[in-house]
Formats: sequence, structure tokens, C-alpha cells
Amino acid sequence: MRSAVSFLRRLFGPRGESSTSLSDAECEFLARLGRGDTLGSLQGVWSPIVGSLERKVDRFLEDGLLEDVSISERLCCVYGVAELKELLKEKGVKPKGKKSDLIDALIVALGAENISELVKHVQLYRLTEPGQEQLDAFEKRKTIERARMEELALLSLVKGDMKRAAEIVSQHEAGKVFQRGMSTGAAGGGFRFFEADLQAALFLVKYEYEDLPLSPDRRRRVGAALALSKLLGESTFDAGRRLLELAEGEFRCPSLSGPLMDSRCRVESYEIDPDMPQEIAELQAPELYARTRLFEANSYCQLRELKTDRTGRGVSILPHDEQACTICLGGRLDYSWSEIGKLPRLPRDWGCGCSYLAWIPDIDAEIRGLFD
Ligand SMILES: [Zn+2]
Repeated sequence: MRSAVSFLRRLFGPRGESSTSLSDAECEFLARLGRGDTLGSLQGVWSPIVGSLERKVDRFLEDGLLEDVSISERLCCVYGVAELKELLKEKGVKPKGKKSDLIDALIVALGAENISELVKHVQLYRLTEPGQEQLDAFEKRKTIERARMEELALLSLVKGDMKRAAEIVSQHEAGKVFQRGMSTGAAGGGFRFFEADLQAALFLVKYEYEDLPLSPDRRRRVGAALALSKLLGESTFDAGRRLLELAEGEFRCPSLSGPLMDSRCRVESYEIDPDMPQEIAELQAPELYARTRLFEANSYCQLRELKTDRTGRGVSILPHDEQACTICLGGRLDYSWSEIGKLPRLPRDWGCGCSYLAWIPDIDAEIRGLFD
């Protein structure tokens, strides 16, 4: 029967493609159910987005995208071994064997009616073949849309058109079911960048990248890739992956090879480990490079803001943790407004994760000073 259905589907396309056209939010909700989340665990987050979850699930079941799972699977999902043993003991049955044996024993001990009562609150489902096909098509469409968005944004960034690039990325963000920085959201809502992020992206676009042995055109593309990463709020790992791709798998930065091998760069994850998988090892240099440039852009914007606000006596350098940056910790940390020209540019080295903040001397010390 199943093969006949899939044969017909091959002829006429997946069932429901015409009758069930799901929104992005519905597809993502279906995916969560398909991953084995119970309906109860999804209520709080998903009902504001897709409405009554029960009604949605009924529709998915009717359309043959989902199916119920067996009683054993539901028992397995909610009860641990200890609880199952306890339930069996209550029924006077001596528990023995693996979890699946305990579940089988419990089903026999309780009888069909009682067992359904026990798991009636566990609404657990599995994707059917057509359901999986719907989700695969959804994923494929999303991947294509994202690639197109990135391509357009990169094109604008290479041309230095930050306004257009930001528009493209924010349009993409606004269309997401879960927007960045929000726990819940609704498709179609607005998305706005923080001014600081746009400034940092602009810094990255304009940066020269003279330490990379690449053609001017490639360097512009490095700037565009890092700026896009910033606009998308990606991790430094993803930013590094973009650089590795641009360098066609062979990212080289001569000034970086030293710090990677010696202890000046105290980022533990970059210690060379001979057992490290090749693909991770390849990403070390581009990630550290991307991380440092992104950090430089953020520090530049941070300092600009501090200089505009002019709060406190000047600007301090805040070491990011005790053992992090020997260069900053070994030097001066506070600079008054009159000495601001001497303030070092951050980061001072690969691995420097220090940041700027307003220098506001301890008020208690000020008061103490009055009585000295
Ligand atoms: Zn530092």
C-alpha cells in the first residue's frame, strides 16, 4: 500500500502540495513535532505564533503529514527507568530487564484502558513520508532564499553600499519566524539593526586587510564577507568559514602563523593539537583572523561612542579576564581625556580580548581623597 502511495506521489507530486500549503511558521512547528517534542512542551512558545496547536496538529494528522506514536514510545518519552520500576512495584510486578522490557511489562500489568489514561497527556507524533517531503522542500526553499540573500548583500557590500546591504539583511530577518535577539516573534514583523552594528560593518568594509596576501579585489571581498557576518550576527567560527571559502581552502596570513604556534595568543582553543580533525585545524587561522578583525571593528565603534558621550574622566581598558592579555595587563589601563591620543588601539594583539569603558574612578576613593 505504502509503495502504491509513493508511486502515485511520484506521479502527481507530494500529497498536499496543492491542498496543504503551509506557512513558514507551520513548517517549523511541524519540524519540532517531527523531532519528538511533545505538544505540551511547545505550547508557550508556539501558540502565539501559529494559534491553537491542537487545531494545527489535527490538520497535520488529517493531511497525513504526522502520525501518532505508539503507547510504548510515549511511555519511553515520559518515564525514566526508576519511575517505570516504581510503577511496576506498585502493581506488584517485580521489575527486570531493559527499559523496553519494563515498558512491555507495565503495559501488560496495567491493561489497555489504564495505560491509555496514563499517557493521555503525552501528545507525541512522528512525521510521515509526505510530512518529511514537505519539510525537505521547505528546507530546500529556505537554503536557496538564504543563498540568494547573501549573494545580493555581498554584492552591495563589495560596492560599499551599506544601506542596501542592511536593507537586504533586515528584510531577510523580518521574514523569519524567530528573529534574532527575540525569544518569540511573528513572521512579517519589523527588524532594525543597532547603529553600532552598522558602524562596525562599515568599518569592516572599509578596512584594507593589507596583512593578507590577496589581490585588492579579494581583499574587498574579505571585507564584504566579514561585514555580512557582522550584519547576520554570526559566530566568529562562521566568519572564519567565510574567509576559508574565499581563500579556496588555503587561508594564509603570515603575521598570524607566529601567534598561533606560540603562547602570545592565549586563546586555549587555538593551541595546536595534533589530534585535531583536519577541518577544524584549517579553520583555526581564519577564525582567529576574523575574530580579531570583528573585535577591532567593535572596539573602534565603542571608542567612538565613548568619545561622543564623554562620561567620566576618560577611557579605561578592561582586560577580558585575569590571564587573558598580558600586553594590556602589563601596561597602563586608565587614560584621561587630555591623554586620549595615547590610548592604544584594541585589540593590541591576536588573542587580546580587552575592551574600552568609561573611566569613572571609584566614588569612595574620591570622597576619601577629600579628607586626606
Ligand atoms: Zn588586551
